[in-house]
Amino acid sequence: MMFDDSTPTTTPPKQTSSTNQFRLCDSCNAGVANDDWTHLDYYHEPQEAEVEHSKILATLETLGWLSHSHTSEDSGYFDCAVCDETQCGNPNIWVGEAALCG
Ligand SMILES: [Zn+2]
Repeated sequence: MMFDDSTPTTTPPKQTSSTNQFRLCDSCNAGVANDDWTHLDYYHEPQEAEVEHSKILATLETLGWLSHSHTSEDSGYFDCAVCDETQCGNPNIWVGEAALCG
């Protein structure tokens, strides 16, 4: 009888790069900047907008305080850090508070 007596593997917390950067789509960029998500109503059915909004708020809570850095010059496909949708264009770069605090 063989027992695997190795210590249980715990997954280490996912390390983000020291520059805590997030790429946001234009929609989320405006939402975070203005703390206004009413535009979701234009893109979604009312009930979907509701769900999308709470998803976004939950994501923002985990990301913490964000400050707008710049608009990336690298145009292309990227996954928005907030709404998790694949976007095409120039991502808006936001940095997390952790990066600012060093
Ligand atoms: Zn987004």
